[in-house]
Amino acid sequence: MTEEGNGFRKIIYLSFPPETSGRPVVCNLARLFDLSFNILKADISPRHEGSLTLEVTGREENYRKGLSYLKENGVKLTPASQKVTRDEDACMHCGLCTSLCRTRALAVDLASRRVVFDVEKCSACGMCTRVCPVRAMLVDMDDNDLG
Ligand code: SF4
Ligand code: SF4
Repeated sequence: MTEEGNGFRKIIYLSFPPETSGRPVVCNLARLFDLSFNILKADISPRHEGSLTLEVTGREENYRKGLSYLKENGVKLTPASQKVTRDEDACMHCGLCTSLCRTRALAVDLASRRVVFDVEKCSACGMCTRVCPVRAMLVDMDDNDLG
């Protein structure tokens, strides 16, 4: 999704190698690039690698600069939308997943009575994978870097 002006919004998955811990790189997104962020999910592994799922809003130009800044500081980045897919053949549109999807990436379209998946709203939280009876929702948790 690309929107003009301050309406630009993306959900990204950040993974922090141990050597980046302690640096205020995420806070600097707000300070240096005038971006707002909302932490949707935070984890730390036993090896002290951290990961964050962030919803970032601001100007698209500043978002690009902010991403470059994070990469220069050793943070691995992946759009959350690249981490989640739905097996369209498997999904039977039962709607079970929609009540757990906080970002409304999965929602029932009242006209067609089918469950629509808007990947750009997805935060890769993985909740839908826990309830889907046919395992149609797939979340890739490898660090597939934004490049
Ligand atoms: S992983 Fe599933 S439940 Fe979580 S935001 Fe994405 S679609 Fe919704
Ligand atoms: S729970 Fe699974 S089968 Fe049901 S609507 Fe969601 S993705 Fe489709």
